[in-house]
Amino acid sequence: MSAVPGLRTRPPSVDSVLRWPAVEALAAAHGRPLVVDAAREELAARRASGEIGADDDIAAAIAARTLEQLAPSLRKVFNLTGTVLHTNLGRAPLPPEAIDAMVKVASGASNLEFDLNTGKRGDRDDHIERWLCRLTGAEAATVVNNNAAAVLLTLNTLAPRKEAIVSRGELVEIGGAFRLPDIMARAGCKLREVGTTNRTHLGDYAEAIGARTALLLKAHTSNYRVEGFTAAVDEAALGALAKDKDLPFVVDLGSGTLVDLARFGLPHEPTPAEALDNGADLVTFSGDKLLGGPQAGIIVGRADLVARIKKNPMKRAMRCDKLTIAALDAVLRLYADPDRLARRVPAIRLLARAADEIDALARRVQPAVSAWLAGRAEVEVFAVQSQIGSGSLPVNLLSSVALRMVPTGGKRVAGRALEGLAATFRALPVPVIGRIADGAFLLDLRCLEDEAEFIGLFAGEGRA
Ligand SMILES: *Cc1c(COP(=O)(O)O)cnc(C)c1O
Repeated sequence: MSAVPGLRTRPPSVDSVLRWPAVEALAAAHGRPLVVDAAREELAARRASGEIGADDDIAAAIAARTLEQLAPSLRKVFNLTGTVLHTNLGRAPLPPEAIDAMVKVASGASNLEFDLNTGKRGDRDDHIERWLCRLTGAEAATVVNNNAAAVLLTLNTLAPRKEAIVSRGELVEIGGAFRLPDIMARAGCKLREVGTTNRTHLGDYAEAIGARTALLLKAHTSNYRVEGFTAAVDEAALGALAKDKDLPFVVDLGSGTLVDLARFGLPHEPTPAEALDNGADLVTFSGDKLLGGPQAGIIVGRADLVARIKKNPMKRAMRCDKLTIAALDAVLRLYADPDRLARRVPAIRLLARAADEIDALARRVQPAVSAWLAGRAEVEVFAVQSQIGSGSLPVNLLSSVALRMVPTGGKRVAGRALEGLAATFRALPVPVIGRIADGAFLLDLRCLEDEAEFIGLFAGEGRA
């Protein structure tokens, strides 16, 4: 049939290919349905192109298609973007204690909603409420899937068909489409805006309070800062006004660190305990931002209000799963010892990392990266600024050190060459994600902890 022995002019049938020993072995290893699909697709592609190729090539291509299907979609990457709590890259890395706790409850049954003392039904919030109260000074606490859910649930519980008063300077949009006005609309409450973008006074709130007012809301302007001719009402004054008018005062903190970050040489960020001291009745914040835990939305504050929130049927739709509860519980326990936090909670450790340590690391890894690039780009050790990310402390940047790469070959191709360089690093077995800035590709090494694994990517024959 074939002009050259071993080279076909028409593709073999799917059935015959499935009987080839190499393909049979593939089906035995990975399951028949996947291999059948891969064989069909590969043979169809070859038929369409007219380039049938040798049997060995066909078998190899079927194996490649099969393995591609089996490769996990969600993968580990190196976050060298310079944004520590990067929402698109999964925010806070978890400490080993949290991972162990998740593994333990993942593999079997647990007392998730079971009271071991009484043998009766328990509440999943019980596992974390005591620690949240201890660490924030709150009377009660509950937890949902993320902070957007915490805000939505709080507003839907306390202000349905009524007004929530918010300053125009705080109508925030957080990356990933959390827009406070939209959340309020979906919560079924009416946004009553007061003040202006740059200036809001206590009198603006006082004048807006009426029969339809359900609560006062203060949102932490996490990811931007209004500068210049500005005025905002401080939390304590708003707390006093709310108390005077007998209205709940809700603070959406966003990040909500449980410790004063100043002790780690970082800028101060408001804590839930401070908000409660200032008269907040409820405070909402994320679990996976500065707290350094799993994705979660935490609500702390007055016991009667938390009880109402827990009775809202929407709470059931937003509740955390056992893995999140296990991880959060483990992370909160690490806060028992503030002195060791900077070592034990990775998010805090990375944020507090000293620039000279990062500089030494950069000098150690630079030669391997430079050799791997084999002249495609110059690699220098370069001082940069990292960001905290996730809308925390936007204006405060952390001194850090990067590998700065400028493609060789002149300005004319610079843009494309930079994109190409970024793509090359993304294509590594563990993708390395950097950023392009000022005509260079930067790998900010603040978040690089596994030095050996990183270096390993650039060892061996594979050159960029
Ligand atoms: C991040 C943030 C949110 C949203 O929190 P998620 O946990 O991402 O849902 C809401 N409000 C503020 C002020 C934030 O900073």
